[in-house]
Amino acid sequence: MKIFNTLSRRKEEFVPLEEGKVKMYVCGPTVYNFIHIGNARPMIVFDTVRRYFEYKGYDVNYVSNFTDVDDKIIKKAIEEGVDSEVISRRYIAECKKDMADMNVMPATTHPQATQEIDGMLEMIQTLIDKGHAYVAKDGTVYFRTRSFKEYGKLSHKNLDEMMSGLRELKVTGEENKEDPSDFVLWKPKKDGEPYWESPWCQGRPGWHIECSVMSKKYLGDQIDIHAGGEDLVFPHHENEIAQSEAANGKTFANYWMHNAFLNIDNRKMSKSLGNFFTVREIGEKYELQVLRFFMLSAHYRSPLNFSADLMEASKNGLERILTAVERLKDAQGKASGAELQADEQTNVAAAKEFVGKFEAAMEDDFNTADAITAIFELVKLSNSTVTDASSRAYVDFLKETIEKLCGVMGIITERKEEVLDSEIEEMIAARQQARKAKNFALADEIRQKLLDMGIVLEDTREGVKWKRV
Ligand code: AMP
Ligand code: ZN
Repeated sequence: MKIFNTLSRRKEEFVPLEEGKVKMYVCGPTVYNFIHIGNARPMIVFDTVRRYFEYKGYDVNYVSNFTDVDDKIIKKAIEEGVDSEVISRRYIAECKKDMADMNVMPATTHPQATQEIDGMLEMIQTLIDKGHAYVAKDGTVYFRTRSFKEYGKLSHKNLDEMMSGLRELKVTGEENKEDPSDFVLWKPKKDGEPYWESPWCQGRPGWHIECSVMSKKYLGDQIDIHAGGEDLVFPHHENEIAQSEAANGKTFANYWMHNAFLNIDNRKMSKSLGNFFTVREIGEKYELQVLRFFMLSAHYRSPLNFSADLMEASKNGLERILTAVERLKDAQGKASGAELQADEQTNVAAAKEFVGKFEAAMEDDFNTADAITAIFELVKLSNSTVTDASSRAYVDFLKETIEKLCGVMGIITERKEEVLDSEIEEMIAARQQARKAKNFALADEIRQKLLDMGIVLEDTREGVKWKRV
């Protein structure tokens, strides 16, 4: 299996630290709002990586954190007049709901930064003791980047080149740093902010130390794969490497994987630019497996542009798979015969070749786009060869094979009966039309139909309102 490693900028053969096991850490979201579909890309991509390892028989220990102490969380808490914890708890719950709806498996462990402060104090102290960190006058603790010779190895930056840029950027409040490239491990509290006691000052951790500590605690000093979006390469992951390797004296992660960005109108989708959709918003228009399928239709290292057209194409593609599986299910009811017929044996051999193509695609740095093409070839084979005369053995084989490969993609092949908001809105509009045309019988019929689907209508002065019961 080959993985593109940001460290070497090459595809490398995957060799686990421990046979049959994979230890992986994926940087999770900062929880101050609903996640947007850009945040969903690493979740879906690395969940699929995990699923493929499991398909191959590996035992995967998958850790993904929630950053629950951060300026943006504090700002939101002040706006709402509540504790930061209220905000982070709320959005962790919302994020977990979105993940479940996108069929992202829960991590083996989902640590939260605020629950791991002791480990952070310990690692920071180790770094101070080893001369890799220092305490400034105001109690801020900085990492001494000059002390870590390999600083820049992930982002392929040279510290001296970086420094010339940084010197210009030196901002107020950072004059206590020995060097502009040094970064914060621990910072003093400001009024109204959450804080913890420490030997240096009452304060809170810097963002980078959180992941180094959580990875160490749940996976050990050395891990196989560390992953996240490409914006995290520098400074976040570069700093994580410096901290972990300086503190533990061992290589931190053997493979660094980074997904490219999800764009909209060919610009980065981000909260700061305000050009984003939340996963929840997309969930009102589409089943979230359509979003998952859309994400996997491109290679994870290619930028992906979000558009209504591509979502429609994904919806249709997914529909084709679900219809094929439904047909196979029907065929199972009709088919008999535990032995493959002669022509079916040839078809099974062809199907096995498609499975081989699927695996080859996934083994080549998780090329999900080509893997999906192989699934479509299986669907085509199924549609063109399964008839009322097919043997049960053949139908079972095709159904199990398609379902297994879809399972790796995290696609559920069982059609959901769930009613989408958009369908409800359409039915309500049709009912309004019927009423306008004084066709009350039809209007009542639609109302009853909605009721059977668990939707209750309420006619109010502001228009028709509906709720699920
Ligand atoms: P954040 O909450 O900003 O720390 O982001 C959580 C994860 O989402 C990180 O791995 C980011 O790299 C990733 N991410 C944020 N925006 C995008 C985007 N537009 N496309 C892909 N990944 C993103
Ligand atoms: Zn991280």
